[in-house]
Amino acid sequence: VKYYLQNIQTKAHLNAFVEVYEQSALEQAELIDQKLTNGNAGKLAGMVIGIKDVLCYAGHEANASSKILSGFQSQFTTTAIQRLIDEDAIIIGRINCDEFGMGSSNENSAHGKVLNAADESRVPGGSSGGSAVAVQANLCTVSLGTDTGGSVRQPAAFTGVVGMKPTYSRISRWGLIAYASSFDCIGVFSKTVKDNALVLEIMAGHDEFDSTSSRKPVLPYSELLHFDKKAKIAYLKETLESPSLQPEIKTNTLAVLEKLKNEGHEVEEVDFPLLKYILPTYYILTTAEAGSNLSRFDGVKYGYRTPNAHNLESMYKLTRSEGFGEEVKRRIMLGTFVLSASYYDAYFTKAQKVRRLIKDFTENLLKDFDYIIMPTTPSTAFKFGEHSDDPVAMYLEDLYTVQASVSGVPAISLPNGKDADGMPIGLQVISNSFKEAELYAFSNYIA
Ligand code: GLN
Repeated sequence: VKYYLQNIQTKAHLNAFVEVYEQSALEQAELIDQKLTNGNAGKLAGMVIGIKDVLCYAGHEANASSKILSGFQSQFTTTAIQRLIDEDAIIIGRINCDEFGMGSSNENSAHGKVLNAADESRVPGGSSGGSAVAVQANLCTVSLGTDTGGSVRQPAAFTGVVGMKPTYSRISRWGLIAYASSFDCIGVFSKTVKDNALVLEIMAGHDEFDSTSSRKPVLPYSELLHFDKKAKIAYLKETLESPSLQPEIKTNTLAVLEKLKNEGHEVEEVDFPLLKYILPTYYILTTAEAGSNLSRFDGVKYGYRTPNAHNLESMYKLTRSEGFGEEVKRRIMLGTFVLSASYYDAYFTKAQKVRRLIKDFTENLLKDFDYIIMPTTPSTAFKFGEHSDDPVAMYLEDLYTVQASVSGVPAISLPNGKDADGMPIGLQVISNSFKEAELYAFSNYIA
């Protein structure tokens, strides 16, 4: 704990942590030390973990990096975090992110931007950019992020760490401040596949507070990392032919596929004509869900309330106008538009149908193949400001991560070399729903 506290201090300019629980982390460490001496310590004894600012932790502030939640204190603890604490993990602090998880660069934060430790003039990715940098820069052993459309995998790729999004419903969402409820997943950043697997197996499993959480039994992923079979791997032709794909990323992805082939695995190219529909589908459905989820922030129940109101209606309007950032407002407007009476069928219903097609395609493909491999991102970490006045260019950054999100299947990003500027490249591996054990074992094999 002292080691990480020291690092957090010396690397404070990266702006990864927004709050450090110094006192309680040190106290917890003392207690766990005693438990270790007595032989009754939990499975995560002493593991130091940071949490994204969208996860509630009783008695602590949670802002979702938004002004509208400034001053808001959590009344209860996220189930996933409680399970980590019950196994003697140490929660060291709260981590910066894009406002309500909306963004791909961590530039949309009321706490300010986070710097990529590999090159401080570049973004760390988003929305869980701070969580990625916290692991990258040794500010904690493991961090929690959330992944709605790539927010764990994309920043993991940009910072050269391991980032896992499990199957939708594998981890309870109780305590997670909602962005798009049918997509949101808590995910894990770590340096190694093993740490990642261990933390996931402890957080996963049914929770009576989240009726959508799965009742399927959880396997001890961290003990099942041995991989000795021959795998069937698909790669999607269109993902490697995209004109926006940085050549070095293509080269490194192909090199992994070639290596796997040489090691006796079956590697096959598959057509994926739906690729161009994934981003529009994702952004229609998530903005619709976000518009609805964020209606609760009205100045009455949580956090910020405008001091400038003169009646109830202006209190609502001004609180929301002053409290939400620009990107969040854009999405609330988009979401409200696609849900409006005249456009509901043309956009929202249509997008739901396309989601079903994408999900069916992906799940069927994963019956024939064990894994799908593709790049995690079309480019490596870009410079600050590069996409900030072009939302569509920013949305295109999510090209490869949204398939797993729209389909609900698990996906992991693994470090896969660097580009000519020394920026990390990510490799994405996708498996079928609830195949986390197989996904981790294969990741451990290729990592
Ligand atoms: N960049 C994507 C978005 O802005 C993904 C965000 C996320 O996964 N939370 O929606």
